[in-house]
Amino acid sequence: MNSDVRQLTNHELLRSACLIGGEWVVGRGEDWIEVLNPSTGGTITTVPRLGALEAEQAIEHAVTAGKKWSRVPATERSALLRRWFELVRAHEEDLAILLTLEQGKPLAEARAEIRYAASYIEWFAEEGPRCYGDVIPSADPHTRQIVIRQPVGVCAAITPWNFPSGMVTRKVAPALAAGCSIIVKPAEQTPLSALALAFLAERAGIPAGVLQVITGPSRAIGAVLTSSQDVRKLSFTGSTEVGRLLAAQCAPSLKKLSLELGGNAPFIVFKDADLERALDGVMQSKFRNAGQTCVCTNRILVQREIHDEFASLLAARVQDLRVGDGFSDGVEQGPLIDKAAHDRVQSLVDDAVAHGASVLCGGEPHSASPLCYSPTVLAQVSSGARIARDEIFGPVAALYAFSDEREAIELANSTEYGLAGYVYTRSLARAWRVSEALECGMIGINAGLISSASVPFGGIKQSGYGREGSRYGLDDYTELKYLCMSALDSEL
Ligand code: ADP
Repeated sequence: MNSDVRQLTNHELLRSACLIGGEWVVGRGEDWIEVLNPSTGGTITTVPRLGALEAEQAIEHAVTAGKKWSRVPATERSALLRRWFELVRAHEEDLAILLTLEQGKPLAEARAEIRYAASYIEWFAEEGPRCYGDVIPSADPHTRQIVIRQPVGVCAAITPWNFPSGMVTRKVAPALAAGCSIIVKPAEQTPLSALALAFLAERAGIPAGVLQVITGPSRAIGAVLTSSQDVRKLSFTGSTEVGRLLAAQCAPSLKKLSLELGGNAPFIVFKDADLERALDGVMQSKFRNAGQTCVCTNRILVQREIHDEFASLLAARVQDLRVGDGFSDGVEQGPLIDKAAHDRVQSLVDDAVAHGASVLCGGEPHSASPLCYSPTVLAQVSSGARIARDEIFGPVAALYAFSDEREAIELANSTEYGLAGYVYTRSLARAWRVSEALECGMIGINAGLISSASVPFGGIKQSGYGREGSRYGLDDYTELKYLCMSALDSEL
């Protein structure tokens, strides 16, 4: 047994089986996926390599269970979700340990993610009973026009490895609150968090088949989930490339889709900004999770007059970041998820340097462990470098100089992506002008950390569509049905 696993208080949370139709199954028990600790390279445990057959079985269970679940009163569904929320909070430490083990992020960040993940369950436990309809005035005095909202039906969720808990509850909680059943296919690298959450959902009393988790090869399982006529909705968080592929696979069955894809967030610092606050914002929005978030700052656009000063202030902070195993005291940055991610980051840095960028700190692998990368600041980066276009997904801050507001907006929008953007200025008028001009789904104004359960998370352009969280978050899991009641002849 991996030594860190011994830290768990409740060993039942470490699941090596999938939850399908209310049973913990391993398939034929012959084929397994090793779950690795990116900090040590050691094996934590194995999970079953299930496939198309089990995905089809899960869909059948989801259809049957979903029909019953949709008829459970919203207040009862809410009570079960609340119980699940309370169990997640009660097991915060164990869930955080599992998360750090399989994902590598520092334990403090893992704890924060578990609280973030739980907050979506709480939010939608409360939002479910408020799934209101509408009465629309009719031109005909004998007619009433009513709109009700109904669950879309069976949903599938394909989730990534960067937030293995948060991305699961952000999809599962609104689905269950709306009265849908859902099948989750977590990322191969990080299945343990999803399985532990499902175990707690089962303990909370969420009925068999309403929430299922299947692990295995993404293509085979994805092909079944996307092609099935019984699956009415897919929610995906991951790369734009895979998002496009899944959208195409969903087209023949005309599934409802939520796609939360890549980003290339601009972080604009005007010369009138509070620089200390802007530095705080970069540290939060760039270096959290070793730079592996889709809302991570990707391009730091700094007004020319303050570019060099800002770059050296940032480098002074960045080189102090403590890198290492997420379980070590005081570590602020863990490893990248795998070797491919590590190599990609290095190649982006090399290309930026070849295009004239100067390395103020970092720019190379970190000695703490093979997957750790040194926190890096690159100044005077050329907008022709690959790092200006590609999502970095690593701890590299790339700074670009701009002259005026018009150029800042032009540069910020010169990307296919449109997820998050950040603006730092003391001018209220400029904050409004720039926020309205930025082609992004979410804007932080003098704020580097903007996501919570109460706000709509999502993007535009090639960052996808649909919104998660907030009062809008139920919309993706409900269909509007219009009822026309006529022949209401008046007796007057
Ligand atoms: P990332 O760059 O974050 O790894 P991916 O888009 O590759 O993003 O992966 C996100 C999720 O999509 C993971 O759960 C992965 O297993 C899944 N995935 C990747 N390729 C496919 C595919 N062809 N079909 C279905 N799911 C896929």
